[in-house]
Amino acid sequence: MGARSGSVLVVGVGGQGVVLSSAVAADAARRCGFDVKQSEVHGMSQRGGVVTSHLRYGDAVHSPLIAAGEADAIVALEWNEALRALPALRPGGTLIVSVERILPPSAFLDRLHGALRYPPIAVDLLRGTVPDVRACDATAVAARAGDRRAMNTVLLGVLSRVMPFSETAWDDAIVANVPPKALGANRAAFAAGRALQADDARRALARLARSDEGGDARRAAASLEIVDAWCKGEMCGICVRSCPEYCLGFDAEATAVRVTRADACTACGLCELLCPDFAIVVHPAVPA
Ligand code: SF4
Ligand code: SF4
Repeated sequence: MGARSGSVLVVGVGGQGVVLSSAVAADAARRCGFDVKQSEVHGMSQRGGVVTSHLRYGDAVHSPLIAAGEADAIVALEWNEALRALPALRPGGTLIVSVERILPPSAFLDRLHGALRYPPIAVDLLRGTVPDVRACDATAVAARAGDRRAMNTVLLGVLSRVMPFSETAWDDAIVANVPPKALGANRAAFAAGRALQADDARRALARLARSDEGGDARRAAASLEIVDAWCKGEMCGICVRSCPEYCLGFDAEATAVRVTRADACTACGLCELLCPDFAIVVHPAVPA
């Protein structure tokens, strides 16, 4: 990436923190004296839809949009969004990607037979197309650092290795943009991402390539973790109304969600994705 100009495309789905990631990177660029332009495109839904943010910096930037084949780096918070964004990457550019897979909401329409599932993983295709892939399971790394919700900041830590912004500028940008109560976890997540090595990326891709996702089988059952203190219960009820299998209801006081049909849960993850308060976590069953 050129020292005096560059462009970064940040992609993911709603609720993953695409806009915040781009804002932090833009702020870090400004703190290093660059002119910065940003542009965002939000998908069809507030959560679950595609979100894309263009970021360009340099001595003088006139357009915020990155043309096809001109992104120096892509930061992808979701695997399939990374594949979709590849045409934007310039030859020799860097792909920073979390191996996280989020099923598009349309896939839930055929949930019972599983004919529509996650698109092909295509790890080999990616390896053959992009020489510099820096992959990780950003959510797992963030969880080890203290808070799985800081997965976007793990990827910023990886990005910081390929951008000409000082560590001080990154840290100041994180402090300025992240809510104070989440600052510690985000700083730790950034440091963990910055520390990731090429071997970590190879292992993450190898694990993903071995995954059986992207096929036609129905997903395994899951266990659900509900944080009562964060759940607004009947005042919200988004997950209860959205669960395609009608697995969820409320407790006796209607102040928190309860699993009412555990056997019917397909581990689709929609409840976790849509919860505005991060009060529900889906743990897919580990195959025997
Ligand atoms: S409880 Fe959650 S993970 Fe299970 S089927 Fe319903 S929406 Fe999907
Ligand atoms: S979407 Fe979240 S906050 Fe709303 S009822 Fe479900 S678990 Fe509770």
